Amino acid sequence: MTLPTHGRRAASSRSARFRPTVARDSATPRGAARSTPEPSRPTRRGRAVRPAFSVIAMTFVGGMMIATSVPALAITATDTEVRASVYAPAEDTVHYEPQTVEVGSDGVMSMLAAEQYNVEAAPPPIVSQVASVGDVSLIDTDAVVWPVLSPDRRSSGFGPRSAPCAGCSTNHDGVDFNPGNGTPVMSIADGVVVLATENGGGLGVNVEVQHNIGGELITSSYGHMQFGSLGVSVGDRVTAGQQIGLVGTTGQSTGPHLHLEMFGVDGVRFDGFAWLAARLG
Ligand SMILES: [Zn+2]
Repeated sequence: MTLPTHGRRAASSRSARFRPTVARDSATPRGAARSTPEPSRPTRRGRAVRPAFSVIAMTFVGGMMIATSVPALAITATDTEVRASVYAPAEDTVHYEPQTVEVGSDGVMSMLAAEQYNVEAAPPPIVSQVASVGDVSLIDTDAVVWPVLSPDRRSSGFGPRSAPCAGCSTNHDGVDFNPGNGTPVMSIADGVVVLATENGGGLGVNVEVQHNIGGELITSSYGHMQFGSLGVSVGDRVTAGQQIGLVGTTGQSTGPHLHLEMFGVDGVRFDGFAWLAARLG
């Protein structure tokens, strides 16, 4: 007969066979110990196991909660791309209670003296009537420019003169600039176009622009420009230096030049060259 020489079963069966006393001796206290708590053992085992399960389950749930509540930065920490909104988890919204301040009945209203401040109010815009446009507000401006790039080239100044052509006036209402045929004609200041026509009579292709210069309503008129060169229409807002047409010789003109007229609310023409030179140097 071959006996198993290893394994727990072999050892126990061997000890049961060859050393019954030892088995009994050792079995007695074990049996005594076992006899009473034996029926409750499965329960105890169950009790012992269940908390362990619960702890594991809790740990797992906790882990999930941690995993879902950590900021996106932790999750994308290994990303090589730079992400813009990782610092803005929606749960971080903070709500503030509105604050209230109670003032006692002994509170005193104090008035601030206006003289303590050096306030310079902007002048009100001049309201001008523009045909087919209606009221137009003109913002005050002091910035003026020459209407052409070479203002020194002039043929005829403002005032009395010998008429250069039959039908030409002996009293020149404007200033004639001779920068060359087809050169740009520019608005002398910010303003609004009140006239833009190719049938300006003696002035030919003519544009008028109204300005609020230092609180004064001033109109500039540009005559004899080329047909088809008008770049503006009535009601258009223009800025200082904005091109409105090209130098030509339309209307009563003996050669290509810009005829510039300037006048105030009374309609009386004044020397535009002197007026501009005083401001531009
Ligand atoms: Zn002229």
